[in-house]
Amino acid sequence: MAHVSPSNLLSLHNKSYLQTSGLRYTPSERYSYGSGAKVVPDPSLFNDLKNQSPNALPTISECAVHLEMLEVFHTLRQNVIHSPELDVAFNIQQKPRTVYRKKWDGAKYVAEPKTLKDTGFGDRRKTKWTHFLSIAAVRFHDWIELVEKYSKERKLGTPQLRYLLLPPLDVLMIWHAFLLNCDDFKEYCERKELRLVQKIAFPWADIHNAINSDTWTYTLPPEHADWLRDTAKIDANLVDALSAAGQRQGAAKQILAAFRKEIFKKNEDPDPLTRTIHTARENKSHNHPLVQNVERQCIFVDKMHAHRLIRSPAVEGTMRRAIDRYDKFLHLFRFYPNIFLVPTLDVDLVWHTHQCSAEHYRHFVTERVGRFINHDDKIGRKTLNDGFTSAEEWYRLRYGERYQVCLCWSCEAILSAVEKLDEDILDGNEPPVSDLAHQVEREVHYYRELEVARRLDRKLPVWSHK
Ligand SMILES: [Zn+2]
Repeated sequence: MAHVSPSNLLSLHNKSYLQTSGLRYTPSERYSYGSGAKVVPDPSLFNDLKNQSPNALPTISECAVHLEMLEVFHTLRQNVIHSPELDVAFNIQQKPRTVYRKKWDGAKYVAEPKTLKDTGFGDRRKTKWTHFLSIAAVRFHDWIELVEKYSKERKLGTPQLRYLLLPPLDVLMIWHAFLLNCDDFKEYCERKELRLVQKIAFPWADIHNAINSDTWTYTLPPEHADWLRDTAKIDANLVDALSAAGQRQGAAKQILAAFRKEIFKKNEDPDPLTRTIHTARENKSHNHPLVQNVERQCIFVDKMHAHRLIRSPAVEGTMRRAIDRYDKFLHLFRFYPNIFLVPTLDVDLVWHTHQCSAEHYRHFVTERVGRFINHDDKIGRKTLNDGFTSAEEWYRLRYGERYQVCLCWSCEAILSAVEKLDEDILDGNEPPVSDLAHQVEREVHYYRELEVARRLDRKLPVWSHK
């Protein structure tokens, strides 16, 4: 296909870059602006969230919710780092310095004060994220014990277990990153005798319902949040709970303010949040691996955020192709058992989606490959690069297809359009090929302008078929 030649690709990407820069500067005026913009992602993308099967690959809908969830994680991290309320709670303050400069006042030298900006403030604010995750890790331990307990008591299908299975966002993030280190999670569950939690199918449908795709925020239904707080003693929103604790004088505020320090006093406070914060402070090094799991995952989250696949006009096709490529990737493990294989970004997304339902993944992959394939994201850069190169070689050899794909909106939209064209021809229709490039350009342009407008809080463009 002509569009994959390097020079065409280069000019396509250059054009995309210029278009986005231009749109940031000013709207294109190609559309009318106001209410009635396309809903992106399209709700129909999430039609297939009902039944997860241990014998099936992840669905397009599950992968799409995963993309949404990663955007929510990205937003949460930004919110925590930039929250003035959490600055107060963790006692992170600006420390401007005053220096005195010698100045001639016409008769003598005087010392003139000059205030210097606190250049370390930005970095100190970032430490809140790690503190936040340390507290989330304690909440994760409490939460998972409760899930096991309720599952054991055969409360399966009861509203209580359903409430529990959709955890607060911080707990969800710890759980998610832990699941992506399959053997570590299994070992943890076995050590703590948590048999039933390993069987949980990840609650994609409920997660999707909790997500606002305009703001990338996550809100539990009120009755759900009330039950968690009153019965399970888990606050539904850790950011709000810590922000509120920072506003009150009390033990919680004291421990938060001293979170970085090594010395802390024993605390017997009856308040659940205070106890959680205290335990987090006390067990910081013990919970460090769980925190690190999330920190490593943040790199993946940032990459996905940069691609913004969930807002792409071709997201459905991108996910469909990624699932197909993941299927082929798994086969490589069977064909070449002694080769270390590293996934591409899109394949990794599907792989992660699969691993989120730990038992389904374990069952499926063991059947497919003949042995269990662990996913360990602690592997070093050099080994990863070598693994990627060998995966690329074996993939090409086996399937005669490119392994690395661009994933930009334009490339993906072109691929989807060409696939659609092939289908139409197979169906006996004769679509106007000459118009294809123009159609793709219009579609990508609209989605691009919509996303830029959304981010810059401008009026949204309304799609027109002209
Ligand atoms: Zn591209």
